[in-house]
Amino acid sequence: MIEKTDVIVIGAGPVGLFAIFELGLLNISCHVIDNLDKPGGQCAELYPEKPIYDIPSRVSITGQQLTEDLLAQAKPFKPVYHLEQQVEKITKLETNEWIVETSLKKKLKAKCIVIAAGAGSFVPRKIPIENIEHLEEKNILYAVRNKSILENKNILIVGGGDSALDWTNELSKTANVTLMHRRKDFRAAPDSVSKMLELEKLKKVNFLLGQIHNVDDLNDGKINVSIKNSDEIKNFEVDYLLPFFGLKMELGPIAKWGLNLQENLIEVDTEKFETSEQSIFAIGDINTYPGKLKLILSGFHEAALMAQQCFKYCFPDKKNVFRYTTSSKDLQKKLNVK
Ligand code: FAD
Repeated sequence: MIEKTDVIVIGAGPVGLFAIFELGLLNISCHVIDNLDKPGGQCAELYPEKPIYDIPSRVSITGQQLTEDLLAQAKPFKPVYHLEQQVEKITKLETNEWIVETSLKKKLKAKCIVIAAGAGSFVPRKIPIENIEHLEEKNILYAVRNKSILENKNILIVGGGDSALDWTNELSKTANVTLMHRRKDFRAAPDSVSKMLELEKLKKVNFLLGQIHNVDDLNDGKINVSIKNSDEIKNFEVDYLLPFFGLKMELGPIAKWGLNLQENLIEVDTEKFETSEQSIFAIGDINTYPGKLKLILSGFHEAALMAQQCFKYCFPDKKNVFRYTTSSKDLQKKLNVK
């Protein structure tokens, strides 16, 4: 089934979220797709607790609070979010509409595409061992999408950050969990670390020092993970291996969409922020033009001008009347202002 909307926004970072608002003011509906399991882009993923000091009128606001405020501001326009999936392919139809396909085989149709993809997709750092791709999504999981498949299984979690510790604590309730890290010193939140150490004391979690040396398919649904600690190598048979080595940013499939690029950034004009392809726009950190500043406030400005041009593609027979939110009763009704 193909879902239909006016505009597809690729990327739910701060700029993608503000684009929903600007488009919504012009009666343009949106679906938003992001690779991550939550909106907020870099603000939510890389610095949720850090204060930002250069958002106009906000003396100080954390990355997480900014995300929450942008989500609340966009809410009246009922955007549809499709998370945990990467946009892989875009195709132009004879009607000049676009079909967007995601890694979860979802298909969406729209009149315009807005690429707000930042520095690209956040993707997990993988185990640096060759020829184990066939085990990914089978025995090796870089993200937990369905907890129930892990119930009562033998699981090896690797890493020392928040994801590794949080999942160790959570999955220990229903599975046999071993956590492995290079040293017994963790980057995760102190709360999660204390909880894990307490579970280890109660023998509900097993802890191992070491690093992954190799992974072999045992062809019976299980894998053998060889573990290296100093010069010693041990074998460990498990159902699932969950490596949490953090995320990296990758331009990914966007590079193959035929848009004019300059050093992995999408070229746009500064009137409409349209790319070399009509009705595809690029805003925020992903675009480039003379004088570009990679700041959130620049992305907000770009979103406002992009929306004006989207209106022309979405409603070619209508006139767009410029209005202020302070004085337009119509805009205030859309924003549920009482
Ligand atoms: P991003 O925030 O990068 O979001 C892009 C989203 O697109 C990501 O969630 C990604 O997963 C998704 N995506 C990409 N490709 C795909 C695809 N193919 N399919 C699906 N999803 C995709 N800026 C300031 O203005 N002030 C500051 O004080 C400031 N401090 C910073 C501090 C740090 C530590 C860092 C790292 C950055 C800081 N920045 C600051 C920069 C600011 O965070 C970025 O300018 C801003 O996040 C850009 O927003 P964006 O929406 O364009 O992209």
